Amino acid sequence: MFVKILPPEVRSRIAAGEVIESPADVVKELLENALDANATKIEVETSKGGKRLILVRDNGIGIHPEDVDKVVLEGATSKIESEKDLLTLTSYGFRGEALHSIASVSRLRISSRFFQEKEGYEIEVEGGKVVSKVKRGMPVGTEVEVRDLFFNVPARRKFLRREDTERRKILQLIREYALVNPEVEFLFFSNAREVLSLKPSEERKRIEELFGGKFELIREEREFLKLRAYVRRNVSHGEFHVFINSKPVSMRTLKEFLKKTLGYRTQAVIFIDLPPFMVDFNVHPKKKEAKFLKERKTLSLLRSALVGRGAEIEFSYLEQEVP
Ligand code: ADP
Ligand code: MG
Repeated sequence: MFVKILPPEVRSRIAAGEVIESPADVVKELLENALDANATKIEVETSKGGKRLILVRDNGIGIHPEDVDKVVLEGATSKIESEKDLLTLTSYGFRGEALHSIASVSRLRISSRFFQEKEGYEIEVEGGKVVSKVKRGMPVGTEVEVRDLFFNVPARRKFLRREDTERRKILQLIREYALVNPEVEFLFFSNAREVLSLKPSEERKRIEELFGGKFELIREEREFLKLRAYVRRNVSHGEFHVFINSKPVSMRTLKEFLKKTLGYRTQAVIFIDLPPFMVDFNVHPKKKEAKFLKERKTLSLLRSALVGRGAEIEFSYLEQEVP
């Protein structure tokens, strides 16, 4: 009587809001795709803080000609075949949702040349539907252009921030991925002006280049956990960048735990590596959070790795702060 089934395009537009809320979210998904494609050079261009245009160009392996028009379908992914693959996952992507979501809330163009092909293909997508597919001469790799984000979702468009706020978020994000992918060259142009240019480098150099200063390295292994923490103490503004299995995470409890352990006035870039089955990224649509299989054990190993062997664990603290 009152129940209606919404048309698929409407459902996609609504669902897209879970993954894509701002231009930075689009950039994040496109960067991750480029990195998953083993790109060694990634260029990002935006205009109007990404509200008018976001373009990400990579020199990765490209998309097979037969797949180019499939990638915008819901659940289209080349990264997993079944749920059990999540247990051994090493790629950033796995949901096959990003391009589908972006396609349903923007005007999208994807050009890609697969590494075994002599030419590329370009598709145009409107309202989630592929409206054209043509051959295009281009180098191996992929170029994704996203125009007029949320042009068809006025409610969402209203919530976009000012141009410079959106641009800053994008810059922060690119820096984050640059930290964990030091061998990749990153370029960022905003309104045709160069904002960031990072040549291929190595971990420590990339970190010191981005922060400007010398860092101490703590490198430790504890049972199933491997840690590399680049630390600079007694700075005026503490700053923590945390990566689990190369994925940037923004987990409040974990960050607070690390701050307490290392001191609030610390700049730190912390890489935590765990066997993929010990950590679940499939808890948040944006994959910014992860769940540890053995949370207390993991935190306890982490603390011991950071402050030295034999460090007593304050279980009362763990009890209180860790859900
Ligand atoms: P996911 O990353 O979760 O697989 P996406 O919607 O982000 O889902 O991408 C869908 C598919 O499109 C990917 O699995 C991949 O096969 C292909 N793809 C997307 N972007 C690129 C890229 N930059 N280079 C190569 N292939 C890509
Ligand atoms: Mg993806």
